[in-house]
Amino acid sequence: MKIDIVTIFPEMFTGVFSSSMIKRAQDTGAVTIDITDFRKYSPNKHHTVDDTPYGGGGGMVLKPEPIFFAVESLLEKCNSKRPARVILTSPQGEVFSQEKAIELAREEHLVLICGHYEGYDERIRQHLVTDEISIGDYVLTGGELPAMVIVDSIVRLLPGVLGNEQSAENDSFRNGLLEYPQYTRPAEFRGWKVPDVLLSGNHAKIEEWRRKESLRRTLLRRPDLLQKAELNERDQRLLQKVKEEMGNA
Ligand code: SAM
Repeated sequence: MKIDIVTIFPEMFTGVFSSSMIKRAQDTGAVTIDITDFRKYSPNKHHTVDDTPYGGGGGMVLKPEPIFFAVESLLEKCNSKRPARVILTSPQGEVFSQEKAIELAREEHLVLICGHYEGYDERIRQHLVTDEISIGDYVLTGGELPAMVIVDSIVRLLPGVLGNEQSAENDSFRNGLLEYPQYTRPAEFRGWKVPDVLLSGNHAKIEEWRRKESLRRTLLRRPDLLQKAELNERDQRLLQKVKEEMGNA
């Protein structure tokens, strides 16, 4: 996969992209990430990227030319078979999700545009991008942190990037539910014991306990997810048990 980030603050990416799993993914060739400073594409001799809004009002708006020129040059250079997805980071976009990360992880070339100031000239939204993504209902100063969040969640899904493939398989949201509680050694800490079933060595029982606790956690914390989750008969039975245990049947 090739990922291009278009930003006026390239230095913000240094630490995050040269550490941990994103670094390993680049080292192994699973992904190539390039950062482009779109200020360099400004046709203006002062390399201006923003201007005051037509119609008046506060704040500065990102001009179309530097972003169009930067993205178009990246699209020309890349010879991926599938057309690139050009993603605008914006609080007005579709709220990012694991489902969207899985969808984007299947692509060959992603271009992420990081905004700043009051926002973008609307023509960028209308004529350049394929997707507009928000990382949540709050407003950040710029699109760099959202771009890092989006890239991290996608790169960990690429084949061979995570040491143990199963750790992504069982992640929260992957199967529509939150992940079950996890424990490790010691079996007892300050009198708090690990559930007996996890020490039993009985894999069928452990699997059933995990599924039930996954359902319990989702019911308690994210009942909205349960409405959409695909639950088979055994899940329905386990969920009913959980509700009975909670005095909620
Ligand atoms: N005035 C804009 C609005 O109300 O939609 C907000 C502009 S914000 C201060 C500047 C930039 O930060 C945005 O263009 C976008 O790139 C990024 N940004 C801020 N919040 C974001 C969010 N929740 N998700 C994705 N990007 C965000």
